[in-house]
Amino acid sequence: MSGSWEKTACILCECNCGLEVQLGGEGGRHFTRIRGDKAHPASRGYACEKPHRLDYYQNGPDRITSPLRRKPDGTFEEIDWNSAIREVARRLSAVRDEFGGDTIFYYGGGGQGNHLPAAYSAATRRAVGSRYRSNALAQEKTGEFWVNGRLMGAAVRGDFKHCEVALFIGKNPWQSHGIPRARVTLKAIAKDLKRAMIVIDPRRTETAELADIHLQVKPGTDAWLLAALGAVLVEENLIASSWLEEHVDDYEPVLATLGEVPISEYCEKSGVPETLVREAARRIGKAESVAVFEDLGIQMNRHSTLSSYLNKLLWLLTGNFGKKGAQYVPALLVNLAGGLDKIAGPAAKDKVTPVVGARVISGLVPCNVIVDEILTDHPKRYRAMIVETANPAHSLADSTRMREALSALDTLVVIDIAMTETARLADYILPTPTQYEKAEATFFNFEFPENYFQLRHPLFDPPDGVLSEPEIHARLCEALGAYTEEDLAPLHAAAAQSREAYIPVFFGTVLTNPKLAPYAPVILYRTLGPHLPPGLAPGAVVWGLVHQFAAAYPDSLRRAGFEGKGFEAPERLFDAILTSPSGIVYSVDEFDESWKRIKTAGGKFHAAIPELLDALGSLRTEEVGTGDRAFPFVLSAGERRSFTANTILRNPAWRKKDVQGSLRMSPDDAAQLRVTDGDRVRLTTKRASVEVPVEVSEMMQPGHVSLPNGLGLDHPNDGGERVQTGIAPNELTASEDRDWLAGTPWHKHVPARIEAVQ
Ligand code: SF4
Repeated sequence: MSGSWEKTACILCECNCGLEVQLGGEGGRHFTRIRGDKAHPASRGYACEKPHRLDYYQNGPDRITSPLRRKPDGTFEEIDWNSAIREVARRLSAVRDEFGGDTIFYYGGGGQGNHLPAAYSAATRRAVGSRYRSNALAQEKTGEFWVNGRLMGAAVRGDFKHCEVALFIGKNPWQSHGIPRARVTLKAIAKDLKRAMIVIDPRRTETAELADIHLQVKPGTDAWLLAALGAVLVEENLIASSWLEEHVDDYEPVLATLGEVPISEYCEKSGVPETLVREAARRIGKAESVAVFEDLGIQMNRHSTLSSYLNKLLWLLTGNFGKKGAQYVPALLVNLAGGLDKIAGPAAKDKVTPVVGARVISGLVPCNVIVDEILTDHPKRYRAMIVETANPAHSLADSTRMREALSALDTLVVIDIAMTETARLADYILPTPTQYEKAEATFFNFEFPENYFQLRHPLFDPPDGVLSEPEIHARLCEALGAYTEEDLAPLHAAAAQSREAYIPVFFGTVLTNPKLAPYAPVILYRTLGPHLPPGLAPGAVVWGLVHQFAAAYPDSLRRAGFEGKGFEAPERLFDAILTSPSGIVYSVDEFDESWKRIKTAGGKFHAAIPELLDALGSLRTEEVGTGDRAFPFVLSAGERRSFTANTILRNPAWRKKDVQGSLRMSPDDAAQLRVTDGDRVRLTTKRASVEVPVEVSEMMQPGHVSLPNGLGLDHPNDGGERVQTGIAPNELTASEDRDWLAGTPWHKHVPARIEAVQ
């Protein structure tokens, strides 16, 4: 394949931009050239600087190429796959039989572009009776999910391509992306005099530099600022009254509560001049359309769920939903925020975790309570855990306690490509191909009015000794006795004939059979997978998703050009997916389609959420700041920068700049501490104390410091010695510092102390 361009995608953020790559180097196992794929329907040739370094992932250190079992002395030994599957199945079923399947906890199942494993793992979870699971969304997005659920029973996104006003809250798309062709889109908004960009961020980010209005809040005071913005909308009558009357239930209590907000006082608390707050509110209130994106800056901060609610009130009170340039509900192939329809409306009851009683939102246990669900003598504590394509020992709060919790489990099974910080604590490690050695896909398909999907083809053969996740889950289900060869015989026979013959057999014998239906994903892989084009067997589950999609969104599918009687339309879509390595448009919507996707009983928004209106009232008596003289600084732990990514890039050599990951601080603070670029300071939180180099940055305001994400991994140096590069942010964070409602962590508001190091 050397010299030819192959199609794939970047896996370093949720945008999954399409790429074209050339392969070569030793054994043809390296990326030699990488460029944006102009044929990719969403990114259209766009790519930022990061994917050019993807070879550091594909050929990263610490690769595992045989199943491993922990020995009594704590070291690992290689074992064959049959033994590994048999022993893992036996250990998990022993936990299930003695303590109940609900004590087996599942974490992970994806990353930024590795989502097929999550679909297959559902079968294994059912086979062991597991009821609780989580992933990174539960330390970021679940507060927003919950608010969306209560407001309308569905998740929304903003239409930044067409909006008049773009509002970014705790979001720096220049670095964290999140919208297709982010930098092109930002520049287009900034250049257009009829449009405006408003940024709420304590830092003067690259996006804030482009903005028309930057509301530079004091760190952790977003809720006061958002309340003041909402209050100005009410006070100055900038709300869409007739729209509210038509589309929103119970908005009066919201208007009444916002009407009581002391605007001047809240502006002062947030550190933003009232004149600027009023200017921003007027720009929002008078715009034809407003699109909003809130992100980790508020979602990993104090009052995160309240801030999500206040954000949504801004666009709701101004009627910015279901029209061009406003908020929309996309047509999803997989609903990652599933279950929101069940919490729509005030009477809904939330499922809770067995030990702490924390809310389970969209089926996800809050990441910050996992340690408390394990480190206890509660009879329903989690006793076994499957961790798949994730690294909670590094990526979740309070690493010391997390390591302690993972070590306290009866059984820890890790499914991953490399010896991660979590894998080191495992009883069994089941190694998998990289994302470029198998067919793979992302379910981050959130666009509108057109939506996109790409089934990526494998680019390299996997090494001997690893198995893809669908193969692992199929083998585990079989070892657990989930189904028999006899059960699958009619499906094998039908698949050998044709997909047309397979459809009625699958729907008739699997989906209608309560014994087999829970294992549908792996049954598809086992029976349909072998009949898909070479290398694409892991895409078998997509066939099932496409049929589900066609039943739920027939008009969206038809508008995307997939028509026909009966099952013809989804079959055509599936064929197009298999034969379009750059991806395809699978859904086309009208702008008002979103209205049909509101899941409340009457099809209207439920604006009043009593718990959050009470929380809004409580802001009056709360002080801002860290409230602790021993820790006067606010540390943002995990800033996205040009050369940071999540921990799948384990070799620090991929970073061109700032290899050690400096602590950014304001010029005022640097002067006060008498330090300058490259000097080292001691950074102390209530959990840990570390030394770190300083970068003096005009981005930061006094009292606010920031560490990048993705650092602090160890790796072998040239002499084979293990060295750690940079600070692992979660050594400094605490699991109890979390949102009272959603349990999301306060990683962007870690009280800290800083001293210069002589
Ligand atoms: S925006 Fe950059 S990091 Fe994100 S998927 Fe695209 S190329 Fe990769």
